[in-house]
Amino acid sequence: MTYQNFSLKQLQTMDAAHHLHPFTDHKDLREAGTRIITRADGPFIYDSEGHELLDGMAGLWCVNVGYGRKELAEAAYRQMQELPYYNSFFRCTTATPVLLAQKLAQIAPEGISQVFYGSSGSESNDTALRLVRHYWALEGKPQKNIIISRHNAYHGSTVAGTSLGGMSAMHDQLGGAVPNIVHVMMPYAFELAMPGESDHEFGIRAAKAVEDAILEAGPDNVAAFIGEPIMGAGGVKIPPESYWPEVQRICRQYDVLLMLDEVITGYGRTGAWFASQSMGIQPDTITTAKALTSGYQPLSALLVGDRIAARLVESGGEFYHGYTYSGHPVACAVALANLEIIEREGLIERVRDDTGPYFRQVLTERLAGHGIVGQVRTFGLMGAIEIVKDRQTRERFPGDGAAAVVVRDHAIAGGMMMRATGDTMILSPPLIWTRETIDMAADRILRALDLAEADLRK
Ligand code: PMP
Repeated sequence: MTYQNFSLKQLQTMDAAHHLHPFTDHKDLREAGTRIITRADGPFIYDSEGHELLDGMAGLWCVNVGYGRKELAEAAYRQMQELPYYNSFFRCTTATPVLLAQKLAQIAPEGISQVFYGSSGSESNDTALRLVRHYWALEGKPQKNIIISRHNAYHGSTVAGTSLGGMSAMHDQLGGAVPNIVHVMMPYAFELAMPGESDHEFGIRAAKAVEDAILEAGPDNVAAFIGEPIMGAGGVKIPPESYWPEVQRICRQYDVLLMLDEVITGYGRTGAWFASQSMGIQPDTITTAKALTSGYQPLSALLVGDRIAARLVESGGEFYHGYTYSGHPVACAVALANLEIIEREGLIERVRDDTGPYFRQVLTERLAGHGIVGQVRTFGLMGAIEIVKDRQTRERFPGDGAAAVVVRDHAIAGGMMMRATGDTMILSPPLIWTRETIDMAADRILRALDLAEADLRK
């Protein structure tokens, strides 16, 4: 039985009857009905009614090699036939997680050569939190367990992921976060820089907030700082260049570990394997997921720095943590094939040298001057468009994000899948986009902005 046996109406009825969607207002969804995506090819997705959409979000920031890669399906098929599952507990493992760990050690930033697997970014952030606290306990400093994060950060939706993240609406529904996590200001100059403050000065001030939090808690009580190199779900917030070097300097000064969440920025999106390499950051852990398999299989990998790994090995004693699917052989087989595609097709170099700069040029030249656009910013193939009522004062339209939803709805109706977070439109396309695809996206976004402006100024 396949979906073709059912009409859209039937699928929507079953969906409404039984399926609780993630991050969804269920009352609203059941009134509106669901769009059902049934197939995809290259940069395009298609719904059950045959509408073609250019996927500006690579699924959910993950389908970096684009859709329809038979090679990845074949890698999964071969592995499933040979060995669909075995675990990595009890002194066992399977071959593909071993090969993948070796590969990840090769491409990871210097000083990072170990991997702990999970099935999602959230799971790997749970691992990261437990691992850094365990590290300090092994160092004889169990009280050094506070983790500093940022407001509006997104680190996943498990209890630890939500606690690490800085989304207040998520915290409000948590009923008690994991203790000893504090949040400081985000490096978001567009809204938070003071009049006359340069980007550079703002970046230093935002980093100073990390130092203030360390000093307030006492450096002997602070285990780590965690951050996305570029905040993704929070609105593609690209920090000033001064921010990360200063955060890193501060972490070193107080012997605070630096945890990077590269669930979005990992595996080519910024024009390097990892944003830490694009930005010159040397972290102690890197959380990765999503594009590790280009979303073709659920898999995450926490990349662990040698300092932490050496302590685990030297001290010995069990680390009581792991998942049934840690190092799933099928997911790891697909990851290996996916990394091979990224390398063979030179997708990272293409983003760095060609499509990344072109993406910035086109979005800046064609969209930044639009009547409801307050700022355009990009980094590699990540982009943000700030929607404002007044370009001079950066005043927003009323309704707290409602304006961006108007833009998004016009974009989708016009064949452009993109996302709205707050008053920011965001883009994170597959790395296979060409100059032509970027032009096509700009055409469609411009049309959506025009239609939205007409609606919003009515
Ligand atoms: N960290 C970041 C930076 C993310 O963007 C996400 C997902 N969007 C996660 C963690 C959580 O990943 P997952 O949804 O796979 O649990």
